[in-house]
Amino acid sequence: MTAFVLATHNQHKVDEFRQMLSARIPGFELVAYDGPEPIEDGDSFAANALIKARAAAQHTGLPALADDSGLVVHALDGAPGILSARWAGEPKSDQRNLELVLEQMSAVPAAERAAAFVCCIAVVWPSTASDAGREMTVEARWSGTLATAPRGENGFGYDPIFVPDGLSVTSAEMSPAEKNDQSHRARALELLADVLTQ
Ligand code: IMP
Repeated sequence: MTAFVLATHNQHKVDEFRQMLSARIPGFELVAYDGPEPIEDGDSFAANALIKARAAAQHTGLPALADDSGLVVHALDGAPGILSARWAGEPKSDQRNLELVLEQMSAVPAAERAAAFVCCIAVVWPSTASDAGREMTVEARWSGTLATAPRGENGFGYDPIFVPDGLSVTSAEMSPAEKNDQSHRARALELLADVLTQ
């Protein structure tokens, strides 16, 4: 199997993808992308993941992976969605994003606080590959509800206010291993491993 490139400058993400996929796909190799980053102006997680994967495939000549993820809140019509990383504006701040969502949800009763983390991963094969121009995406959700105040120190982003279905703790109160077992990213990576080994 040829090496894949992952369109991210986040080394933590490279490690997570490499660990998960090499455990499931014999001979799987992953390199980090260090080329130019495209403007993510898609209108869905899949569109943005594809924009990033296409740029990496074109720049490196390798089949490219890219992910896009975020928090989708039912009572906010799916927001912050693809704007999750910069919901409270620039400069990006996890703390201000989370506070803004809590404020927007302040009048919403417990029964209507459904939310989900969504992760979409795109794969794009470069024009030089035997399956030139092939593209695909996989998407997974981690459903839960929003707490009314932040709890927990682990994770990042909206983890301190996300309570996964079936649990009473937030994803910031879970150990990294527990979260990695069931998160939207873990589920999307499993779908991806299935597709790549078919
Ligand atoms: P990215 O696409 O992985 O960079 O994620 C975009 C944004 O979605 C992040 O900046 C977070 O605000 C939010 N997000 C994605 N995944 C998670 C998660 O596992 N926990 C908390 N927030 C997340």
